[in-house]
Amino acid sequence: MIRIEDIVEKVRRNHPEDELDLLRRAYFFSAREHKGQVRASGEPYLVHPLEVANILADMRLDAISVSTGLLHDVVEDTLVDLETIRQYFGDEITQLVDGLTKIAQISNISQEEQQAENVRKMLLAMIKDVRVVLVKLADRLHNMRTLQFLKPEKRRRIAQETMDIYAPIAHRLGMGKLRGELEDLAFQHLHTEDYREIAAQLEKRRPENEAFLKEMTGRIEEKMHDEEVPYVRIEGRVKRLYSIWKKLRSQAISLDQVYDLVAARIITPNEVRYCYAALGVVHNAWKPVPGRIKDWIATPRDNLYQSLHTSVIGSKGQPFEVQIRTEEMHQIAEEGVAAHWKYKEGKRGARDDDDALKVLRSLVEWTQEVKDSKDFLDSLKLDLYPKDVYAFTPMGKVIQLPRGATPIDFAYMIHSEVGNTCTGARINGRMVPLRTQIQNGDVVEILTTPSAHPSRDWLNFIATSRARNRVRHWVAEQQRTESIEIGRKLFEKEATRFQLTPKKVLTDDNAEFKHVANDYGYGRVDDLLAAIGYGKLIPRNVIAKYLGPEKFAELDARKESRLRTGMQAVRRLIRMGDDAIVVRGVDDLLVQRARCCNPLHGEEIIGYITRGKGVAVHSKSCKNVQALMVNPERIVEVEWAGKPEKAAYAVKLLATTENRTGMIAGITGAISDMKTGIRDARASVAPNDRGRIEVTVEVFDVKHLDKVINSIKSVPGVLDVERLQGAA
Ligand code: MN
Repeated sequence: MIRIEDIVEKVRRNHPEDELDLLRRAYFFSAREHKGQVRASGEPYLVHPLEVANILADMRLDAISVSTGLLHDVVEDTLVDLETIRQYFGDEITQLVDGLTKIAQISNISQEEQQAENVRKMLLAMIKDVRVVLVKLADRLHNMRTLQFLKPEKRRRIAQETMDIYAPIAHRLGMGKLRGELEDLAFQHLHTEDYREIAAQLEKRRPENEAFLKEMTGRIEEKMHDEEVPYVRIEGRVKRLYSIWKKLRSQAISLDQVYDLVAARIITPNEVRYCYAALGVVHNAWKPVPGRIKDWIATPRDNLYQSLHTSVIGSKGQPFEVQIRTEEMHQIAEEGVAAHWKYKEGKRGARDDDDALKVLRSLVEWTQEVKDSKDFLDSLKLDLYPKDVYAFTPMGKVIQLPRGATPIDFAYMIHSEVGNTCTGARINGRMVPLRTQIQNGDVVEILTTPSAHPSRDWLNFIATSRARNRVRHWVAEQQRTESIEIGRKLFEKEATRFQLTPKKVLTDDNAEFKHVANDYGYGRVDDLLAAIGYGKLIPRNVIAKYLGPEKFAELDARKESRLRTGMQAVRRLIRMGDDAIVVRGVDDLLVQRARCCNPLHGEEIIGYITRGKGVAVHSKSCKNVQALMVNPERIVEVEWAGKPEKAAYAVKLLATTENRTGMIAGITGAISDMKTGIRDARASVAPNDRGRIEVTVEVFDVKHLDKVINSIKSVPGVLDVERLQGAA
């Protein structure tokens, strides 16, 4: 078992100013808490945190990271909570341990293979400190190294997850060496047969390969020497097993045909010109293969990998690859982000404007200005998917959203029908308002009601264009449907006056009427009706066009004479719906309900001819009516146009709610979604800090009322709804 003092010594060498005693304290704490626990290998559990800490120390990470390695499983696997960690080890380590515990939770939910990309991004987006990822990768590396002790099924699952999630993260962070080891270990457990086969073939060729590499590196050394190009060392490398396997698969070739199975690597001092000089040396000595030169120095890869690659034809006619890079490029290719800690130290010391800073500056392509480690971490984090948020469905599927997205956006990402019928949402098991912004890692559950509809209000807070388009589309459709309905009613009323049968006029095969619509520029009769509904066209004019001038004049005159007899009521609609009011015997008078009593459908009413404002309709019980009786000649008989049993009654409801914003909007939204009229709504806060919302609704019967009450109750935040007695 590795000793803690060996680890302390490694950290001391790289970070002499760090608090080394922290490591010892973390060690004793971890030893005490994991006491009695055993790994699948039969070893004491403590071996695992110690090995993880050792990997981190070898990455030259600081005392905080290495201590986190010692403590990383304590919260997850023992009874210790984060508060205890905070007491003993402070905020920084607590945050790191917390991050690790969260990652462990995420890995437990997500198993679907095709969402690996999203899980990776979410992990990175969630993490506030890149050291969390480094500790996690070290943890995973040690677990992969000891995977053989687990049962086959678990082995497979962990290996697959390593391949899907952790190796790509290591790649993204430029950590080539770690990625390589993770991939080869995972490969070994996922495709054991292929792994053995390739390993055996490689082993058979080993003497040959080694001899060849030795010869090549020796000859390169000679040539470099002859041409006086400085170099640090020449290495040989054999391609990793997993890379070989991928190549064999994708190109359907045999091992002999893998041209870069072995490669020589020239490591130069830290000046780019030596790389190009070395390339010149190689191309002078051997014939380059056309099209195989790759300059990753001039254009580094996304993860900052820099190198020159070329393939040349060797002495026996077989191609082989040469990679050329400076020492720092090499270090970054192998260690990626972790290389930062080394250069951070270099910067602190005497080597102020030396090459180390240049490398830092190339790291800075991600990070802009690097002032200290924290800035580095912060800016690194900003670079990793700052615009996205990743959330889960209850089934564990990852949904990618822009920052600021709400449950409505989430619902539309799942399916437009889910969005269209969304009535509420739970985040991490708790009911939330629909405008709540989703955070990374949230589990979002959408509640739907088949009869529910989108609300125009949503447009005020949704974040995705997908949701926006769907809601807009729905609102437009809705408006159009309503306009057609209104237009149809207005038209029918007018048509009846001209002794037309509206149903016959409006049938689809009435070509004449369709012509009229076309004359107005509308393709379909519905479009014409919508235009009437919007108030763009007057029904009378449409009828005139339909009948032609002569017939129209004739019917119009007859209509006038009929009216003059006073035998038939003239109706004027103050608005569409069932509470239209009819004034008997009087044509063309404005009718409006008096504000003082606002008579309800079904109530006994009386009309009073005002000066210039048409007929005011009062409730017979209105206290102002007495005064009006002074001028009896101005009183007219009026009556409700709708059938009495369809009359709407105003009912006052009181909703008790949580005290928060948006409640009125939520409640009135729910009511209008039930296609129910609202007379009045007002909110106040009760002394017990509950919201009180009084709303007066128009209902037709008790059944209707119950539906409305239920829909209000389903609004998130509503605690209770009761009916208030007395006049509304
Ligand atoms: Mn662990």
